[in-house]
Amino acid sequence: MSHSSLGHGVPARVTVIGAGIVGLSCAWSLQEHGIEVCVVDRARPGAGASWQNAGLVAPAVCVPLPEPSLLRYGVRAVSSPRSPVGLVHAGDPQLLRFMATMVRHCTTAAWRRSMATYRGLNERVVDSYRHQLEGGVSAELREGDVLACFADPRESAGFLHEMEEIVGAGQSADVTLLTGDEARQAEPLLSDRVAMAVAVRGQRYLTPSAYVTALAKSVRERGGKLIEDTPVTAVERRHGILVARGPGAELEAEAMVVAAGAWASHVLAGHGVRVPIYGGRGYSFTVALDRPVRGPLYFPAARVAVTPQDDRARFAGIMEFGSPDAAMRPARIAHMLRASRPMLHGVDWSTKADEWMGPRPLSADGVPLVGATRTPGLYVAGGHGMWGVTLGPLTGAMLATQIATGVVAPELVPLDPCR
Ligand SMILES: Cc1cc2nc3c(=O)[nH]c(=O)nc-3n(C[C@H](O)[C@H](O)[C@H](O)COP(=O)(O)OP(=O)(O)OC[C@H]3O[C@@H](n4cnc5c(N)ncnc54)[C@H](O)[C@@H]3O)c2cc1C
Repeated sequence: MSHSSLGHGVPARVTVIGAGIVGLSCAWSLQEHGIEVCVVDRARPGAGASWQNAGLVAPAVCVPLPEPSLLRYGVRAVSSPRSPVGLVHAGDPQLLRFMATMVRHCTTAAWRRSMATYRGLNERVVDSYRHQLEGGVSAELREGDVLACFADPRESAGFLHEMEEIVGAGQSADVTLLTGDEARQAEPLLSDRVAMAVAVRGQRYLTPSAYVTALAKSVRERGGKLIEDTPVTAVERRHGILVARGPGAELEAEAMVVAAGAWASHVLAGHGVRVPIYGGRGYSFTVALDRPVRGPLYFPAARVAVTPQDDRARFAGIMEFGSPDAAMRPARIAHMLRASRPMLHGVDWSTKADEWMGPRPLSADGVPLVGATRTPGLYVAGGHGMWGVTLGPLTGAMLATQIATGVVAPELVPLDPCR
C-alpha cells in the first residue's frame, strides 16, 4: 500500500519540497521518527540561500528583521546606491504587498513581541545542532566570539541599543566592549581604522556549503530519496492524497512540507498562508589572507559579516529586496569590498573568488512560518530570513515532532503559517 500510515494519522512517507538547510533538516528529523522521506529540489541541495551565506549559528543575535531602523535604511536605499539595503524592481506588486506588511511590523512593540518568540527558539539552537552532529551529520561546527567592529565609536550606538533590547527581552548574551587595540589583539587582521569592537561571546559558525552537503548525505544514508532538477509549481489534494505538480513530474504523498525558501509563496498559493515570503537577496565572496581569521567578524556600518573558511575568509552582506531569480549585480560585491577594505590588512583583495548571490526567505512580519497549512497534510517550514542557518535544525526537529505526533508545541504556536 503506497500511502499507508504509521498509525494515529502519522504519515509513513513525507515529501519535502526544497533541499536547503531547512528542508533537509525537516527530512532528517522526520527520519528520526521512522518516517520515510523524499526531498525534491528544482535544482540541487543548497541551490538557494543555504550555500554560501555567512554561516553564523549565532543565537545571541538571532532577532526579527523588522524594526524601526530598517525603515530609515529603506529611505536611504532609494536615495543612495551605496546603501547596504536596496531594491531590485520597485514596481513588483509582490514586493509592494510584502513591504506593506513589513512596514507595519517596523515598530518597537512589534519587534518586542516577535523577539519573545525568537528567545524561546534561540535557547534550543545549540542542542538542535548537537543532535544532528551526534546523529551522523559529518560536518564541523566551530565555536567563536562574533567581533562587531566600528571605525567610529559613535557608530556602535545602534548595535549596543539592539543588544540592550535583546537582553531586555530575557535572552542571554555575553557581551564585552573592546578598545581598538584590544580588538586587534583578539584579531590581528583588523587594521588601525578599527576604533572599538563589541565581542559577542560563545557563538558558533560553519561552512554552509559543507554543512548542507553533509546533511544531504546523511539523509540519503538513512534511506531518504533526493530528487534534483525537478521544480514543483503547485501542490493539490486529490482523493485524500497530496500531489506536487511540476513540468517534469507528479509526486504523490500523504504529507508534504514546503521548504522552498524565497520561492515558497508561489508553491503555497491557495493553501491559506497569508504572510508573504519574499527574497532578501544577499551576496558573498571569498579572499585569501596572510593568516587565517581567528573567528567571525561583523562590520555593522557596512552590514558585512566575515567568516573563516579554510585559509580564506568569506565576506557576506547586502539586503536587496527582489526576485530570487533576477540576475546578480556585481556592483553589490564591489560595494561590500570597498566598505570592508579599510577595516582589515593582510588581505589579498586580488584573490577575490566564489562570488555568489542567495535569496534570504524573508517573512513579511519577521517571524518564520512553521506548521500546518489549511490543506490537510500540507506543512510549511520557511521564512527564516536572516537566520535560517541558525534556526534550520531546530525547525526540522520541531516540525517533524508535530507531523509525527499531531501535537503543536507551544513554541510553534506563534509560527503558525496561517496566522
Ligand atoms: C548573504 C547571506 C548571509 C547569511 N548569513 C546567515 C548567517 O550567518 N546565519 C544564518 O542563520 N542565516 C544566514 N543567512 C540566511 C540563511 O542563508 C537562510 O535563512 C537559509 O539558508 C534559508 O534556508 P531554506 O532552506 O529555507 O531556503 P533555501 O536555502 O533557499 O532553500 C530552498 C530550496 O528550495 C528549492 N526550491 C525553490 N523553489 C522550488 C520549487 N518550486 N520546487 C522545488 N524546489 C524548489 C531551491 O532550489 C532551494 O534549494 C544568510 C543569507 C544570505 C543571503
